[in-house]
Amino acid sequence: MERETKQRKAIFRVLEEQGRPLTVEEIHRHGREYVPRLGLTTVYRSVRAMIRSGILLGLQYPGQPVRYEAPSRSEHIHFICNACGKLYDLPSSHKEKSMDLPPGFVVEGEELIVFGRCADCAGIREG
Ligand SMILES: [Zn+2]
Repeated sequence: MERETKQRKAIFRVLEEQGRPLTVEEIHRHGREYVPRLGLTTVYRSVRAMIRSGILLGLQYPGQPVRYEAPSRSEHIHFICNACGKLYDLPSSHKEKSMDLPPGFVVEGEELIVFGRCADCAGIREG
């Protein structure tokens, strides 16, 4: 129980520090900085348990590995870099305005994903 809490904390910390949805492999790689003996299977198990309790969300896009994030405090859209494959959160202000819906249609949610190159891969590094 104690150990499990420590692992979950590490997973949250990693997601917070990276600031973008991560695959289990990415969580595992960064998580070992906090829990050196953290195993990949353990991360899988913790992530699954955290999804069941609703404290993590899985993101599944076609042709992409499943990535995980904490349920968002605000709406945002996702950006996938075609070069490095990382997925980033973009503020929703980038979102286009309302769409035209056929009469009688009601939107209950949306998932917008943008593809391109991140600053690192486009060669525009800051600093
Ligand atoms: Zn990139």
